[in-house]
Amino acid sequence: MAKRNILKFGDPTLRMTSREVSEITPRIITLLDDMIETMRAAGGCGLAAPQVGVLRRIAVIEVDEGTVYELINPRIISFAGEQREQEGCLSNPGEFGITKRPKVVVVRALNRNGEEYELRGTDLLARAICHECDHLDGKLYTDVQIKRG
Ligand code: ZN
Repeated sequence: MAKRNILKFGDPTLRMTSREVSEITPRIITLLDDMIETMRAAGGCGLAAPQVGVLRRIAVIEVDEGTVYELINPRIISFAGEQREQEGCLSNPGEFGITKRPKVVVVRALNRNGEEYELRGTDLLARAICHECDHLDGKLYTDVQIKRG
């Protein structure tokens, strides 16, 4: 495993749309491992592939320490409710904003074994799912920020 460099806000790569993963190759597995290491080293609870300069639809989330969700080709299939909470991004260190997000989100994705699964997140996990999926479409939390904070 290797730590990768995290791109910062202002880098045009963060505004690009990522491509679907058609085959989970050893390269993709290495990328997942590196992303987990990079997220942990930076003290974050989520990281998307474009943040390390790879325009593929991949994200990792670790809201509860020790429980890592790997999301390949994630699609949010339902959402409900609303929350307004503080949100930050490893690509914008030290900055935070209050965003409006769904309270509950269900996402469908593949894991590293190519198996489809569904993940239901509430509160922080719901925010993290939305935040990371947005990265794959070149969207940043500041786009949905209702105020700084
Ligand atoms: Zn982010």
